[in-house]
Amino acid sequence: MPDNRLLVIDDEPDVAATVGRVARRAGFDTIVTTDGADFLERAWSWEPTVMVLDLAMPDVDGREILAELARRSSKAHILIVSGFERPEIEEAMAAGRAAGLNMAGILEKPLRIDSLRAALRAIYDDAELISAEDTRAALERGEFFLHYQPKVSLRTLRPAGVEALARWRHPQRGLISPDSFIPVMEAGGVMDRFTPHVIGQAVAQARTWRDQNLDIGIAVNVSGGSFDRLRLDDIIGQRCREQGVDPACLTVEITETAAMVNVAEAIDGMRRLRAMGVRISIDDFGTGYSSLVQLHRLPFSEVKIDKSFVLDCDINPESQVIVRTIVSLAHNLGLKVVAEGVETAGISDQLLAAGCDIVQGYHYGRPMAADALGDWLRGFGRPARDIPARIGAAP
Ligand code: C2E
Ligand code: MG
Ligand code: MG
Repeated sequence: MPDNRLLVIDDEPDVAATVGRVARRAGFDTIVTTDGADFLERAWSWEPTVMVLDLAMPDVDGREILAELARRSSKAHILIVSGFERPEIEEAMAAGRAAGLNMAGILEKPLRIDSLRAALRAIYDDAELISAEDTRAALERGEFFLHYQPKVSLRTLRPAGVEALARWRHPQRGLISPDSFIPVMEAGGVMDRFTPHVIGQAVAQARTWRDQNLDIGIAVNVSGGSFDRLRLDDIIGQRCREQGVDPACLTVEITETAAMVNVAEAIDGMRRLRAMGVRISIDDFGTGYSSLVQLHRLPFSEVKIDKSFVLDCDINPESQVIVRTIVSLAHNLGLKVVAEGVETAGISDQLLAAGCDIVQGYHYGRPMAADALGDWLRGFGRPARDIPARIGAAP
């Protein structure tokens, strides 16, 4: 039996099924139920490591289930899903904690796939915390490398570049995803050494692909904080000269633009990059940190809609409205729009109808090793219906 077992109870079959699907993809063995007695029975016989519990169900009182779990000293991580008002949920969380339960977080309805994934990841990561010192040592040992994920033009269905996504090959723990180490690097002051390292690898790869007659643009991610402190134009200029690569094949995706404290200097830095032909993208647009003012004031070339709005834009009218609004806003400002998190043909169709320019997601290709990407690109000239839905390594 895998170590990760997730038990979910919800009276809404859609919610229960979504939790089950997302958890299974995240590597959990999963059981879904709508019945309180069944839930409690499995809570003991199956020993789940994570339980997802709806508090507001018509036939079952979620708070009674919590009380019963506390009586039996359950050790599982408990996530609460609820349409209740916030104070009632906070109260249930506090009561659970006071009774010794491991209350891991709250998932609000309507359930967002992304928040569920983040909650599961947080539980998993807590078990094995990474320190800034670990990442510094790993950088010295050369354990970081890049995977590449294709972007596709919706209008022509031709490849429109790739995004370089960092991976850590940990000698004991295997492949570690950036969500587990990037925040640690940002907080621990490692980013300013990591960013040049990533740029160096991406430019070297651009050279290798060019030597193989593959002309493809590469986007690298740069945190807002690094953008502020580093002279990116010098770093990119130098690496490109060393490799004989045109800087115009690079895009810089800026995440956490709120971390850019000095806006006047940021604008200068961005202008210098634009003058070299480098494109600049505002990543994860629509989430807490990006703002309209930044979009207007800073010389961006493109907007990347955050995947939390894309993942369910085919079924969630609210996400659909957000996507359409971002597309028209960006186009009015003369910016291209990229959507990330395009997992299905249905989502891709929605984005096409919304006027989105470029798509990126598992439906077209997963992040993959550089060699695999070469093969993917060579196979991409075929008609759209032949495009393999899932190619490459797991993300
Ligand atoms: P991001 O820049 O927004 O990158 C997109 C993320 O969405 C990637 O996660 C990618 O694997 C994932 N993704 C792509 N298609 C799909 C899809 O169809 N469905 C879903 N659910 N996800 C999809 P990844 O590789 O885990 O990277 C996470 C984040 O870590 C990145 O988000 C970026 O903010 C950061 N990151 C990655 N590499 C670097 C780096 O070299 N430097 C910095 N500063 N940040 C990096
Ligand atoms: Mg990005
Ligand atoms: Mg993103």
